[in-house]
Amino acid sequence: AESIETRGFEAEVARLLHLMVHSVYSEKEIFLRELISNASDACDKLRYAALTEPALTADDPNFRVEISLAKDARTLTIADNGIGMSKDELIANLGTIARSGTSAFVEQLSGDAASDVSLIGRFGVGFYSVFMVAEAVEVVSRRAGSDEAWSWESDGAGTYRLKPATRAGRGTTVTLRLREGEDEFLDAWRLKRIVKTYSDHIALPVILKAEADEAQTDGEQKEDETLNSASALWTRPKSEITAEQYAEFYRHAGHAADEPWATIHWKAEGTIEYTGLLFIPGTRPFDLFDPKRESRLKLYVRRVFITDSCEALLPGYLRFVKGIVDSADLPLNISREMLQESPLTAKIRSGLVKKILSELEKRAGDDGFKTFWDAFGPVLKEGLYEDFERREQILKLARFKTTKSGDETVTLAEYAARMRPNQTALYFITGDAATVARSPQLEAFKARDIEVLLLSDPIDDFWTGTGLDWEGKPFQSVTRGDIDLSQIPAAEDERKGEDAPEGAIASLIAAAKLALGEAVKDVRVSKRLTDSPVCLVAAAGDMDMHLARLMRAARG
Ligand code: ADP
Ligand code: MG
Repeated sequence: AESIETRGFEAEVARLLHLMVHSVYSEKEIFLRELISNASDACDKLRYAALTEPALTADDPNFRVEISLAKDARTLTIADNGIGMSKDELIANLGTIARSGTSAFVEQLSGDAASDVSLIGRFGVGFYSVFMVAEAVEVVSRRAGSDEAWSWESDGAGTYRLKPATRAGRGTTVTLRLREGEDEFLDAWRLKRIVKTYSDHIALPVILKAEADEAQTDGEQKEDETLNSASALWTRPKSEITAEQYAEFYRHAGHAADEPWATIHWKAEGTIEYTGLLFIPGTRPFDLFDPKRESRLKLYVRRVFITDSCEALLPGYLRFVKGIVDSADLPLNISREMLQESPLTAKIRSGLVKKILSELEKRAGDDGFKTFWDAFGPVLKEGLYEDFERREQILKLARFKTTKSGDETVTLAEYAARMRPNQTALYFITGDAATVARSPQLEAFKARDIEVLLLSDPIDDFWTGTGLDWEGKPFQSVTRGDIDLSQIPAAEDERKGEDAPEGAIASLIAAAKLALGEAVKDVRVSKRLTDSPVCLVAAAGDMDMHLARLMRAARG
């Protein structure tokens, strides 16, 4: 008994567990999906480790997940022969929150049970979801290559216990003692349905074990049965994969909880062969603006999982894309570092970028494109700044708010078609979304019926300064330098009353210069205003005002 160690959960985990324990979330069955998903990940990790250390799997080369149930004891057990966890890993993985998605989930918890519960569906909260159905959970795990096994046990109320255990081979066994009222999860038929629904795409067999009771009754599992298709989803013909199966695969591979907005599944043949199964999410994930800007695409080589952190596979501006790439042409024993540098990776990357952009082009006319653009447009626009080869292509996809668009957005082609006669540039203003449309800088443009692009994403200040043009016409900030609008007649003459006499203006300017001193470079008469008396502008060679403000804010 001395060897039992009791530890407290990290405070955030404790909050999460409290929510799980008291959950009234209606789709509690997803706990099984989460456990099978973890088992599959654990097998993937070991398969990779065994590439360099074959002894790890030599004694038991067939990866699988086994589900067994004991009605009398009211327990449900999910066992895998994956990589397993050491004692330290049990503490780190099941006692703290490692994943940014989960910590974002906890940040959003309001303490109001009803709204918190609806968040579960939006996040997918992994292992801890077992506490929606179990009054106690034991995890026994043995790390591949180690003789030691450890038991982790908890009822979800603040603490967990660790003690040495025994396990016949490597892997992890999760045993749930089901709560009163959760008997449906002891029903073989029900379990089969759940596995079919959520885990059919899992690439290793998920086996329901025969029940061990002596006297067998009706409805009891009499033989071991493999419940899923047990082949990698992306290797199956497209015609045999349902939208639901694709969506479940997306949630598993992308650690997502929503529906994919786009599913792109293809086989590339040519100088390099690979299969891609990519997804564009239906909603913006919580870590989209993580400063690391990393893609989490999963890379497989001949169905062996290699890594989900190969940045070189996708440019930062497409980091929202989820899914897998499986190539037969990359060497299996390639190190993750070498992958980053490999010309083959660069080839795959350019193939993926091409495929993703062409899918976006295909759907750019759809009503649903707005969903995509609202969620990921600000990220995709980073490509205007970063990817010189593709920036024209990206610019065609881009949508903009303008002084005339109202709640809608327009493409640059639409903007260009509405340009006024003699208009020589695409005019834009950058600034805060809430106020930019009210800027006094826009008055002269309104008076001449010239449409101005309203740019309010931080990246807009960068790409607009790169000399990019639209069909030969430059982008021109309305806040910079002198803009000559004299060739474009005012829509109607807005000027009211008489012009002030020359002398009065000269002395007003002199007085303003005196009062403002060093704070401004110059004070001038402007033709850009119609209603407001004054506005600030940047000199032609200076940094755009909004950008200057952003830079000052960033410097702190
Ligand atoms: P996620 O799977 O998204 O990382 P989870 O909450 O589902 O989050 O699991 C947390 C971590 O616990 C996993 O990342 C993994 O390191 C570890 N883990 C969970 N289940 C297993 C398992 N069956 N075998 C090995 N490690 C596991
Ligand atoms: Mg998981």
